Amino acid sequence: MATRFSRRVLLFIGFGVALPALLLAGLGVFLTLRISQAVEDQALRYDSYMSKQVAEAIEVELLSEMRRSIALAENAALSGGNAADILTALRQGETELGRPYVILLDQLTGYSLEMFQGQPVVYDPRAGGQWFAGLMLRGSDGQVMGSGGWIFDPRQFLINHFVSVIQDRLPANPRMYGSYESTRKLSFELLGPDGARLAYVRQPYDLGEARTEPLRGPFEGYRVRVGVTSNAAVVLAERFVGFEVTFIALMVLAIALAAIFGLRYTLRQVELAQLKSSFVSNITHELKTPISLIRLAVETLEMRRITSPEEGDQFLRTIGRETDKLAQLVDNILDFAKLESGRPVFQLRPVDLADVAREAVETFRPRLDDQGFTVETEIPDHLPPALGDSRSLVHCVLNLLDNAVKYSRERREIRVSAGTREGRVTVSVADRGIGIPPGDQQKVFEKFVRLDTGLVHDVKGAGLGLALVNQIMRAHHGRVELVSTPGEGSTFTLVLPVSAEAAATPQPEEQTGS
Ligand code: ADP
Repeated sequence: MATRFSRRVLLFIGFGVALPALLLAGLGVFLTLRISQAVEDQALRYDSYMSKQVAEAIEVELLSEMRRSIALAENAALSGGNAADILTALRQGETELGRPYVILLDQLTGYSLEMFQGQPVVYDPRAGGQWFAGLMLRGSDGQVMGSGGWIFDPRQFLINHFVSVIQDRLPANPRMYGSYESTRKLSFELLGPDGARLAYVRQPYDLGEARTEPLRGPFEGYRVRVGVTSNAAVVLAERFVGFEVTFIALMVLAIALAAIFGLRYTLRQVELAQLKSSFVSNITHELKTPISLIRLAVETLEMRRITSPEEGDQFLRTIGRETDKLAQLVDNILDFAKLESGRPVFQLRPVDLADVAREAVETFRPRLDDQGFTVETEIPDHLPPALGDSRSLVHCVLNLLDNAVKYSRERREIRVSAGTREGRVTVSVADRGIGIPPGDQQKVFEKFVRLDTGLVHDVKGAGLGLALVNQIMRAHHGRVELVSTPGEGSTFTLVLPVSAEAAATPQPEEQTGS
């Protein structure tokens, strides 16, 4: 009852701590991902804006280059000059654009027109990747008389000007979003019609998505791509998100493991505390009963209330039996305390388990006779020696005999046998008692455990006997085996390895089946 209650309380506390922690971690991951998504969206919008700015700045660059060199040609046209005069004037104007070229109004049909910064730019592709690009010229009558311009290679122009456009023209653009500082961590690439990179400013970092903007007019087919560099805030944000999500996932794992193991450990401790408290009441009872019986017997003898010498012997036997019980109990407690403290003191010497079995049966025989048990023994004269502490081993067998007596009902039959099996020596104590259900056969070897079945309420015990037997056997590199059928009986077998060292001393060997 109490265990179930504390289990519920602990589960409640455990989940009360673990669940909010898990929820918080989930919220943390969710918010981080949302914020990083927002940063990325914002960055993409900014990149898109910047790519348009770069495209525009390239147009401004071409326009200003053309304007710088066309002033003389404009003057020639205004003062009524013909095509040859205009061409001569164009040649005089310094330019890196290419070969000067003049087109009169009647030849202009078929040419394309694009507005660069509110100024019409005439253009047309020529063979071999060459383009014509020019500005409108007005004659002396104020009417458009044609276009003066250059036949140039847009690819070369872009390659020559791309870096300087970004470095000089972009920060100077008054309509620019933000400032030069904010473009510092952007990378710009010039892509040719075939998609190849022709020029770039700062190495791009591949974030998967980058904005491209197509160029117009004589630059048709070329594109500007804007992305981020590896030290851009958005890249750091992305790395941080990865780190944080991993960190939170590890934290969640740690919290979950701590909750599970912490709960299991605490529950075990609570169970142990409850077992210990029942142990104290059990042991008190165990001590009190023989003491009262001894006192009663002593008082009766003292007051000479006995009617016959046989009755006197009876009381003396009671005193002897109860004293043995007390001694065994005290031995159990002391040995157990010693083993628990991790300092077992065993006198390891060559031991013959046949002698151990015989001594235990003889010591226990008065109690067996007293309670009407028949004992069948099958113990050879000698067994191969094992290394052990004979007092402790006798004590183990006495504990098994004590249990066989305590947990038997009408069929008061006990069989003690000893023998060898696969290089080991064994002693078995079998009873025809109440037996142990398969599910509990491991549990009975735990300290303070008393099964809540059958005779346990009538029979006293501290729940130490089998735990002690198990510990002693393990300290001897051996084990205890249990075969039991509820209602039929139980057989406990002590198994010890034969000691090669002790066997070197010649000993007579006999064997009986067990
Ligand atoms: P206890 O002092 O209760 O006898 P033990 O450690 O010797 O403590 O045994 C633990 C429990 O194992 C007992 O309370 C009993 O329920 C069960 N048990 C031990 N030996 C036998 C047996 N021979 N037959 C049936 N049940 C047994």
